[in-house]
Amino acid sequence: MQRSSGWDLDSLQREWAHEEMQHLVLEYFAGTLDYDMHKVVEEHLSHCGACREFMVFLRRLHSALVALDADRHNTCVHNPVEGRV
Ligand SMILES: [Zn+2]
Repeated sequence: MQRSSGWDLDSLQREWAHEEMQHLVLEYFAGTLDYDMHKVVEEHLSHCGACREFMVFLRRLHSALVALDADRHNTCVHNPVEGRV
């Protein structure tokens, strides 16, 4: 039995599952998962460093967006153009 060293179906499927998982992590982050899926993602996060990093990335992105939004809000308040209306 010979195995080509380039790729094998097992790892390919694992990668795919992992990609799928990151979609779930997005939903997990958004809080749109039902209880069962929530558990599945939590379980995955507990042993997958890559998805935990992805989660950290999402948190950072989220807080960056919130900060950006707050900034925009501030500039609106102090925007002279707005003041003329
Ligand atoms: Zn993962």
